[in-house]
Amino acid sequence: MFWADTIADEVERRYADTIKAGLPIIVRDEKTASGRVHVGSLRSATLHAIVADVLRSRGHLVEFHFEINDFDAMDGIPSYLDAAVYEQYMGVPLCNIPSPEPGFANFAELYGQEYVAVLKNIGFDAQIYRASELYRSGVMNDLIRKALDRRATVREIYLRVSGSQKSEDWYPLNVMCEQCGNLSATRITAWDNELVTYTCSSDTIAWAKGCGHTGTVSPFDGNAKFPWKLDWAAKFVAKGVCFEGGGKDHYTKGGARQVAEAICREVFDHEPPYGVFNEFFLVGGKKMSSSKGNAATAVEMAEILPPHILRLLLLKSPINRQLDFDPDGDVIPVLFDTYDRLAEKYWSGVVDDDSQLFTFAHVPEERTPITKRYLPRFSQIAFLVQMPHMDVYTEVAVQKGDDLTDEDRAEIALRSHYAKRWLSEYADEKFIFTLQEQLPDAVAALTESQSDALRLLAEKVEQVDSTDGQTLHELIHAVRETSGLSPKEFFGAMYIAFLGKDSGPKVGWFLSTLSRDFLLKRLRREG
Ligand SMILES: [Zn+2]
Repeated sequence: MFWADTIADEVERRYADTIKAGLPIIVRDEKTASGRVHVGSLRSATLHAIVADVLRSRGHLVEFHFEINDFDAMDGIPSYLDAAVYEQYMGVPLCNIPSPEPGFANFAELYGQEYVAVLKNIGFDAQIYRASELYRSGVMNDLIRKALDRRATVREIYLRVSGSQKSEDWYPLNVMCEQCGNLSATRITAWDNELVTYTCSSDTIAWAKGCGHTGTVSPFDGNAKFPWKLDWAAKFVAKGVCFEGGGKDHYTKGGARQVAEAICREVFDHEPPYGVFNEFFLVGGKKMSSSKGNAATAVEMAEILPPHILRLLLLKSPINRQLDFDPDGDVIPVLFDTYDRLAEKYWSGVVDDDSQLFTFAHVPEERTPITKRYLPRFSQIAFLVQMPHMDVYTEVAVQKGDDLTDEDRAEIALRSHYAKRWLSEYADEKFIFTLQEQLPDAVAALTESQSDALRLLAEKVEQVDSTDGQTLHELIHAVRETSGLSPKEFFGAMYIAFLGKDSGPKVGWFLSTLSRDFLLKRLRREG
């Protein structure tokens, strides 16, 4: 079964009453906009967007809310920003820090909007809201009051569930200093049912500077924010969430999820939503984390893969299984091949898990129906775009054995675009080919048997009228058999003669794209 169907089944089971009452199923995800969003976050977005999508496809009313968390305090400076400039903002909510680039209202807007654009691009459309709006709107007020009143219970939960000991005088809330705006440097010392008293000091936390101010202020309407495990629980309640998962790291025993669920039930008197964890997304074997600036970002990922292929990558492995992606190797061509295999099966009418995967790899608007078109292999397109003497459209039409439709041409244009991008930035050297206009020096190193085989092939080619791919394929194999050379020795010699390296694409097809004169001359090593 397609993994998202299994999760959607459970959501349907748990929220049968909600569905029956005609109320929407609320799905929620969030991302703290503390810097460029790394590709790993797409795993969480996939979980929520696809579960919402599957539920919607079953005819349910679904709302997918995505939060740009702009109210968290800055707790680290991304490596690509000037630490000397941003140090002063450590502990300040992200929505109150200036944007590193012009054109955005604040720090969180720059990175939040960048990420939301990626989500939109791959069809993970959501209703976007900001954490700052949530707090400022007052919907968190009642929950803030409960947490302050029941702080002994909160402390007890932290100890019981996660083994974390909070001191007697700890309050489960961070208030924003009225003087310097810091959220992390303050410490609440009293709560009188309406106002909190606090001090702002550099002694509160190692990485945030306080201003020394002491004040008394209302904790409501955006003046304060919950620490994150309470924050998570409070958002379950405030948004009425039915389904929300999270990263595997939060799902450990005694981890954030268990603390948040206990707080939700015991402090906020609310049943937490159903959720499952998403496994990590590894790029080249490394776990992606937002605190490092050295990894592929979600933005980059959306630039190297078209939306339906990126969706396929994100959907093809069950969400609880690690996803490894290395754009340097042959992962991208293989991903396109996987798409082509699924497409062939789908268009031949097979209905199974693969057809479900293939369906959801497309955005809803593309599904009815998924446009049938000729799918040239990505690896061949990647080769063709490197050969200035070849017209990619003509070659694909020959391969198809028919005229290209508009849809075929659009597909070729798309694959050419992404192949060029892959070749210029990621592809391993073994995928880079240059047709050798002059006889390459490496030919001198061929053995006598290899040279003889090339000459024999030239003789055979001269005797036939047509040098189409099939004819050449047959001649090549006949010559190979009589040559006594291993395939590696034989084909290696061909590739060296034409490409200057010992590997290449299907040789019959490749040679058929060359002019007969050039082909004969090169086989005879005449130029
Ligand atoms: Zn202060």
